Amino acid sequence: MSYNSIIDNKAIKKTKQAEWQSIIGLEIHIELNTQSKMFCSCSAAYFGHKPNTHVCPVCLGLPGALPVANKKAIEWVVLCGLALDCQIPLFSKFDRKNYFYPDLPKGYQISQYDLPFAVKGRVKMDDGKIIRITRVHLEEDTAKLIHATVKGKGVTLVDFNRSGVPLMEVVTEPDIKNPQEAKELLKKLRQIVRYLGISDCDMEKGSMRLEANISLQKSGISKLPDYKVEIKNLNSFRFVEKALEYEIKRQLGLIKKGQKPLQETRGWDEVEQVTYSQRGKEEAQDYRYFPEPDLPPIHWQRKEIERIKKSLIELPDEKGVRFQKQYKLSLYQINSLIESREKADYFEEAVKVSHQHQIDPKEIANVIVNKRINVEKILPAELIKILVKKRTKPTIKGKELEKIANKVIRENKEAVEDYKKGKITAVEFLVGQIARATKGQVDPNQTRKVLLEKLR
Ligand code: ZN
Ligand code: MN
Repeated sequence: MSYNSIIDNKAIKKTKQAEWQSIIGLEIHIELNTQSKMFCSCSAAYFGHKPNTHVCPVCLGLPGALPVANKKAIEWVVLCGLALDCQIPLFSKFDRKNYFYPDLPKGYQISQYDLPFAVKGRVKMDDGKIIRITRVHLEEDTAKLIHATVKGKGVTLVDFNRSGVPLMEVVTEPDIKNPQEAKELLKKLRQIVRYLGISDCDMEKGSMRLEANISLQKSGISKLPDYKVEIKNLNSFRFVEKALEYEIKRQLGLIKKGQKPLQETRGWDEVEQVTYSQRGKEEAQDYRYFPEPDLPPIHWQRKEIERIKKSLIELPDEKGVRFQKQYKLSLYQINSLIESREKADYFEEAVKVSHQHQIDPKEIANVIVNKRINVEKILPAELIKILVKKRTKPTIKGKELEKIANKVIRENKEAVEDYKKGKITAVEFLVGQIARATKGQVDPNQTRKVLLEKLR
């Protein structure tokens, strides 16, 4: 149940606007799939490997070991920033974020504080609403703590394979109005990052990790509330939605009792379906941020940013617009096809292969979408072969076919002219037009014969 519907049920007058509005922001950590780690040459592909086999003095935080920044990781963060319509400041630096925890051997995380690689971006939602992106910055991942039982005793083990893997952090402005919108934004972000090919964003493997912050404000007041609750441990989009829905109810309950929700960090307990208090929320000053002295700051040249910009591929939104124009597909078909770059490419490859068979791209889209074609298992060419085979026997012939041919000839004067001037292939265009007009219910050879006679 959404927040608005909870309020609506309680409202005396249904027409009255909800009294309280939820204000939500997201922080998303994404591991980049570079070959090496952020500040050393250890392999970053650690998943499923034996603990503590991808380590060196740098990522173990041994005294005297010096970091060297991974250029690819920096470029990818800028690339992602550009994909999110961010501004790329020409001056940037790394900072130390100090805190003490066993997963952080140096006692600090190399991160970015006041000068991140990308700022002030935006993501456009399906309804046209803009969610502002505050920043995209780069930091290093921490080691992984594993709570286990050894010889009957509860122990915590540390696996440093993850320590120092490049971690991109995307932070949104609190522009999100409800849990469903939060989920939509996360899906869009994941889609964009996957298109860029810079991370697999696999939440089960921990390569995408989510945090949300939420507070309630009286409707109509634009000032942000003076507290916010951060929710951690959200390892699926569904959990984000559920945890936010729970928090809305919890905070609303407190407010109705005349209490103000505490500023704190809470976890999500999937078994109990509740959030629980973990600790008071840290403020930035608690981390004693200061510039990382072992890494030089980054001065970009404009042309370097331009070069990265040029490498930006066609993103889902642009692809959708083009598919609409070029193939006249339905919104449903488009959304399904552009889900992943692989699927979209597959469709276009199939369309290419299908040209000589006069198959309508819409028909191809339909099959891929509705029959849930596994794009990894069937080659586009094979799919087209199947379509051609299955095609219903031509049902339109004789007088009816001639009528349609006459109409197509009338409506495509240019192609007819071309043909008469000697451009033989123009007739294929007309065959295609007839195939399209009849949804493929004609035999191409027969159609060509009819056309050639008429154009003689
Ligand atoms: Zn290392
Ligand atoms: Mn972070």
